[in-house]
Formats: sequence, C-alpha cells, structure tokens
Amino acid sequence: MSGVRSGPDASAEPDALGVRLRAYEGRSAAVGGVAKDPVNAPMIRHWCEAMGDTNPAYQGPDAIAPPTMLQAWTMGGLSGHEGRTGAYDELLALLDESGCTSVVATDCEQEYLRPLRPGDEVTFDAVIESVSGRKTTKLGTGYFVTTRMDVRVDGDLVGTHRFRILKYAPARPGPPRQQETQQQETQQQETQQQETQQQETRQQKVRRPRPVVNRDNAAFWDGVAAHRLLIQRCTGCGTLRHPWLPGCNACGCLDWDTVEASGEGAVHSYVVMHHPPFPAFDPPYAVGLIELAEGVRMVSGVVGVPYDKVRIGLPVRVEFQRYEDDEGSLVLPVFRVTEGEV
Ligand code: ZN
Repeated sequence: MSGVRSGPDASAEPDALGVRLRAYEGRSAAVGGVAKDPVNAPMIRHWCEAMGDTNPAYQGPDAIAPPTMLQAWTMGGLSGHEGRTGAYDELLALLDESGCTSVVATDCEQEYLRPLRPGDEVTFDAVIESVSGRKTTKLGTGYFVTTRMDVRVDGDLVGTHRFRILKYAPARPGPPRQQETQQQETQQQETQQQETQQQETRQQKVRRPRPVVNRDNAAFWDGVAAHRLLIQRCTGCGTLRHPWLPGCNACGCLDWDTVEASGEGAVHSYVVMHHPPFPAFDPPYAVGLIELAEGVRMVSGVVGVPYDKVRIGLPVRVEFQRYEDDEGSLVLPVFRVTEGEV
C-alpha cells in the first residue's frame, strides 16, 4: 500500500485529545482470536488466481500458503470476530467524535517466521501498538493508529502483521450543500456550450490533478496536447496497446510506433463516482472504460449526458477539453456521447 506522508507534529505538546488517545497504546484489541477457517487449498488457489501468482510453491500436495496471505486467515468478515475487546472501536469512536471522521489505510508491515500450510489452525492476538501525535498531512490533520497482530499456530508465533491507518479531519470540505445541489439541477438542462463553460469556471477555482507523465507515456500526452489520440503499436508484431508501456505484452519487443485513433468508441464499462468528494470534481459523475474502434480501452470521463444516462455500449467520440487553473492549462481527452446527436 502506498504511504501517506506526514508533516511535522502540529503540536509538540500532546493536546487533551492526544493524551486520551495515548492511553490506548498497549491495550489489547483482540485476545484469543480464532481463524474462521484453517489454512486451506481453495483459499490459496483463489488468492493466487486473483494475484496472478503462478509460483509452484503454492500448488500441489506440498503447497504452502503465500506469506502475504497472513492477514487473510485472520479476517473476521462482516460478522466480525469473537475475541475483540472493543478497545479499538472505542478509540475510533473517540476520533470520530473529535472530528477525525475520515479514515485511510496507510501501510502494513508483515513479518513471516515460518510458512503456513493447509490444515494449520490459526489463532491471533492484536494490540494497539501506537497512536501518533497530531499530524498534518495532505489529506487533513489527524492521528496515525498502528495495530499489531501476532499470528500463531499451536501457540507458536508464525508471523506478525502491523496495520496503520490515519484517522483525520478532511483538509478541504466540499462546497456548501445548497450550491452543489443547484449546480446539479441546472447542469442537466444546460446546453453543451454552457456545460463546458461551467466546467472551465469550476476548474479555475481548484487545481485539477495532473496526469503522471513519464518517459514511457510522454508521447501520448504530447499527442493529447496537439489534440491527437495516439495508440502505441508494437513494431515487432503490430499489437496495439494502451496504457502505454515500455514493451509489448504479446511478444516482448521494445520497439514501437504509434497510430492515431479515429476517436470513435463505445462505453465498455463505467462507474459513477459519488464518494470520496474531491475538490476538483463535482460528484456524481461518470467515469468510463472506453473501447476505441481500434480495440484498445482507456479510462476517461464520459460527457454529454447526465451521469445516470451513461450505459454500456453507448457510442462516444473523443473530445479534447482544456482546463485552466492557477497552474496553467491542461488538455485532457474526454468522450462525448454521440447517440442521438443531430
Ligand atoms: Zn509485439
């Protein structure tokens, strides 16, 4: 998992809340937890399929479990686990009450002392290992909470799993509710031109996230800046690919050129984003997986119809939208629904 960078302690002296939170350090979160299932081959097989892990060590009569499955054996599922002490829930409730209502998992660390094998009966204990001082991050200000789970088989420690979350108060609340609702209501009745103008105005207020441009995909973004949608093509076998990669998945060849896409495509799949709120965007909005006429797919915004009218199979055509904000201009490809157009 990716880490969330933390800033310096907002206050060197723990505040009153900090003192209350620190009192949870060292308290048990779970005692004598028992895995819902023993280590077993079907779960190992599903895991390996999901991960695309074909390591032979995880197959056959002498299979071991992938070490990274450690947490999978101790998960309580929706119904939870017996053995929870309630301390962790209390701690989270205290943070909720103090305004730290958002949560993000920041990282986990695992240690493996011996492999787990089908038939092993897993037990575990968990402890709230540490609660940080108040920290300011890009997400907001809050507290890092680290729990450590000790995983055992027949009483012997086989691994540890440290899991860290940040409970925080979001840095930037969204626009006032009334304004948001008005925007959504009027948006559906606007013409295409008005829609674009409104988006441009909104983008001026909040910096829109930039694409990550690197040496592998720079030519794609150069194309976008010139209002050309370029697809990478392997010069070894002719296979088209997107997203851009240094080599060909089909033949391994590192040489490539490009073909310009016609820009025609169809919605292959889509999601409607409602949460989390993000200042540069105005949920709900549709994000599509667009299948281009040439056969490759790309993720992009779907525009031209209300979010709840987006459907699989809708024909779309690329359009290049320019966004202006304090950091300059940005051109992004979006896909406009063409069905029913005059
Ligand atoms: Zn190839």
